[in-house]
Amino acid sequence: LPSEFVQALPVLEKIQAHGFEAYFVGGSVRDALLQRPIHDVDIATSAYPAETKAIFPHTIDVGIDHGTVLVLAGQSEAEHYEITTFRTESTYTDYRRPDSVDFVRELSEDLKRRDFTINAFAMDTEGEIIDLFDGLSDLAGSRLRAVGIATERFNEDALRIMRAMRFAATLNFNVEEETFKAMQARAHLLSKISIERIFIELDKLLLAKDWKKGLEILLASEAYTFLPDLQEKAIQALLQNLETGFTFANSAQAWAALLVHSDHVNVKDFLKKWKVSNDFIKYVYDLTEAYRLESWSLESIYRYGLEKALLVDQLKVAAGQEVDCDQAYFYDEKLQIHSKSELAVTGNDIIQTFNIKPGPILGKLLHQIEKQVVNNQLKNDRNKILIYIKEIL
Ligand code: ATP
Ligand code: MG
Repeated sequence: LPSEFVQALPVLEKIQAHGFEAYFVGGSVRDALLQRPIHDVDIATSAYPAETKAIFPHTIDVGIDHGTVLVLAGQSEAEHYEITTFRTESTYTDYRRPDSVDFVRELSEDLKRRDFTINAFAMDTEGEIIDLFDGLSDLAGSRLRAVGIATERFNEDALRIMRAMRFAATLNFNVEEETFKAMQARAHLLSKISIERIFIELDKLLLAKDWKKGLEILLASEAYTFLPDLQEKAIQALLQNLETGFTFANSAQAWAALLVHSDHVNVKDFLKKWKVSNDFIKYVYDLTEAYRLESWSLESIYRYGLEKALLVDQLKVAAGQEVDCDQAYFYDEKLQIHSKSELAVTGNDIIQTFNIKPGPILGKLLHQIEKQVVNNQLKNDRNKILIYIKEIL
């Protein structure tokens, strides 16, 4: 039993002592069996939410409608577990969310509603695996297979199509044939799924070690044709140009890579369709702009910063381009300032010293000083800058 489970055992045992069933379920059991790091331990129980709350002194209602109660256990505040009542999800009339969640007392009912066989294990307090859908043989064969009839499962929730390719990429698994055919057949239903949820899955796919495997499936299933502005050409370019074994350092780098290989696409408009944050849009936009530069300079390193410059260099190296990897550091070290706020003189200084009014002239002056300092043609020293201004005024 992995230490995360051992630590959580008292919680399960306490539930059992009150006459209910409790199991480890979901991704944590899968990851434990694969000997991969576990992030969150999910617990499922036959106790209804109110019953779970009655058992533990410290609980938080995090998703009570879905049957999830957060239990604060142990000495440290950090130790907490999501405990979810066994449930079924009935009649998905809109292809995305269950119309209603019904709590049930049967573990098997709960496992049946889960997406893939390798995600549908339960583990009891003895470490015994409950495997109702032959998930262990799929795990051994590195196969991703839908629980039950695949087309029906994707009908219920088309996000599972994205999850399939995401798990293929994170686990280096292959999608079993029937499941794959169903993904192809139901890919059009992705247009019913909220773009935010699709982004999360595609983003996880891109950050995975075997992202190429995930993208191959995205292409082969033609699911990309139902996602905003994703071009076959761009996906192919990543598959072909970037060396195998390269992993993206962060999501911005991954999305920027996709975008620099997309034709006729406005980066900001593209990302707005994916409903990502404005900060993320700005960051990716900068990476795509910086990517187009032939080489670095004091001005471009000042503008984009070392972090973005290195992300761009990494991408170019992965694409087999000749890159002088010391250049970005070289210019960064030569910079006297890394932002306008580090200028030794402020707008207010200039207003007071030279009796200039705030306005376009002052703006132009500040800009000129900034440029001189960035290019090391002027020392970032208050007196030196004031003398310089006096000369040019
Ligand atoms: P991760 O490592 O990304 O957390 P996970 O398998 O734990 O992977 P979660 O999204 O945390 O994935 O979901 C926990 C469990 O809930 C899954 O293992 C699966 O059993 C079930 N599940 C999650 N999303 C769905 C879905 N859309 N359809 C069916 N079952 C789902
Ligand atoms: Mg999880």
